[in-house]
Amino acid sequence: MMCRLAKNGLIVCQSQSIPGGGGTTFGDVFVTTESFVRVMSDNDLLSHEMRHSERWAGWGPVEFAGAYGLSAWWSSAISGSYACLNYFEIDAGLHEGKYDYSCAKTLEIG
Ligand SMILES: [Zn+2]
Repeated sequence: MMCRLAKNGLIVCQSQSIPGGGGTTFGDVFVTTESFVRVMSDNDLLSHEMRHSERWAGWGPVEFAGAYGLSAWWSSAISGSYACLNYFEIDAGLHEGKYDYSCAKTLEIG
């Protein structure tokens, strides 16, 4: 896997495919199917993923995975989207994580 260091300290790794698509943060590492050029120039996305990374560090890997999973499950059950009512995605920023448009439609917020 090809990895590079982003200017905010996040390690960005490129993978051909990820289950679920898009990108996922594991600890300090953001794994994405997007190109480095696109990710490295997207300050919103980098700060969103950095926030996940900080939460991961604060909670610990097992606790974070459990809490994130529960939050994603709860959000899916109510809104049909794992992100829109997910505490961790809201905390990291729905706008920065590119969820705001789809979540506004999902939650029918003008
Ligand atoms: Zn996110």
